Amino acid sequence: MASSMFAKARKRLHQAAKHLEVDPDVLEKLKYPQETLAASLMVRMDDGSRRSFKAWRCRYDDTRGPTKGGIRYHPKVNIDEIMTLAFWMTFKCAVANLPYGGAKGGISVDSKKLSPAELERLSRAYVMAFARFIGPDRDIPAPDVYTNAMVMGWMADEYSSIVGHPSPAVITGKPLALGGSLGRNDATGRGGHIILRHLEKELGVSPDKTRVVLQGFGNASFHCARLLHDDGFRIIGVSDSKSAIYDPDGMDPYAVMEHKTANRTVSGAPTNGKAEEISNEQLLEKECDLLIPAALEHQITDENAARISAPLILELANGPTTPAADAILEAKGTIVIPDILANAGGVTVSYFEWTQNKAGYYWSEDEVRSRLREFLVPQATVIWQTKQKKELSLRTAAYVLALERIAGAVAAHGTRAYFRS
Ligand code: NAD
Repeated sequence: MASSMFAKARKRLHQAAKHLEVDPDVLEKLKYPQETLAASLMVRMDDGSRRSFKAWRCRYDDTRGPTKGGIRYHPKVNIDEIMTLAFWMTFKCAVANLPYGGAKGGISVDSKKLSPAELERLSRAYVMAFARFIGPDRDIPAPDVYTNAMVMGWMADEYSSIVGHPSPAVITGKPLALGGSLGRNDATGRGGHIILRHLEKELGVSPDKTRVVLQGFGNASFHCARLLHDDGFRIIGVSDSKSAIYDPDGMDPYAVMEHKTANRTVSGAPTNGKAEEISNEQLLEKECDLLIPAALEHQITDENAARISAPLILELANGPTTPAADAILEAKGTIVIPDILANAGGVTVSYFEWTQNKAGYYWSEDEVRSRLREFLVPQATVIWQTKQKKELSLRTAAYVLALERIAGAVAAHGTRAYFRS
């Protein structure tokens, strides 16, 4: 597993540890996931046959609280990716200062090839297999790539049937009518927008001078694009899993989304001038002032990092940049606002949803939005100050903050130094 995604992710922990006094017990505790469960989900298909799907759930570390993390449906999902995503969630929850550890789950499936009824049976089968593993005080899933509010609603319903009473707090990102929170749907994109605008003076960003390219055009990406567009930023490129469009004259993200919803692709969407149809890989390298990777991990690698022209990257996707690419970007002065800060808005509003479910008392959208800002802005400020003070990249500064918090929780149980004295 020397070059696995997980091994690469763990490098970031060791980089951060160099800038803190961390008891070796803490690093030992964070070396491997706490527990990982694999299952095979048997699903009755519409044609009467049965098919099995591989599925996983990993709880990385629960020292700071119940574990939290999304469920991904993707044909390439595998245990290495799930462990890595759970590791990142542990650090993201600590960056956002939520009382959670990190987790992640997934099913290896091309959900676009399933009928709605097959998708429902698969989602319920996931909960049947993992019902003993998840729970409102143990491990709380949420949506991720190719899962949405309806999938979360089916899962909450299945879990409630198993335990014999409504249990909405078992999962977040649910439809509003089933205990979802106002403001959850756009929380990830909005969180990225809040952080960018909060740091804009330090970053030298101004809306009218900033041309934005986004990779992916799903939940996280669309909401960030529309908020930036509303503020006067110019969106000049977007993509989906099949294609990309680029127009230096700009485009209206609302119109692009309308086109994507009708045609299942951004290709052919209306733009202000004449759009160039290019590949996803080409889009990443196009000239722009702000690049927002918002699709999958490991898109910016040592192979293409030198050709990325954007001086600023806002990582809405989890893990879009490899550690080797980080080094190349850092050497050429590119500033990267790291995933564990940039996309923490989603898990923060998931936390709000969970607290509302537990209290049975629901907040207004304005309350959700203002509390989201209250949670994220101080973290962005501290991370920026740490970067300046210790002369670190924003990513290492964010890992330092998270590790400090996790280490504090681990050390509160007593460390090697305590027991030796
Ligand atoms: P989504 O399913 O809504 O959208 C994913 C988008 O990526 C789609 O537009 C899809 O066409 C595109 N895509 C898929 N494969 C691609 C590829 N190979 N190249 C380019 N585009 C591709 O998913 P989402 O919820 O927006 O998640 C996107 C990223 O944001 C993921 O990395 C996810 O882990 C991360 N994220 C999401 C949330 C959330 O609350 N939704 C929170 C934190 C992080």
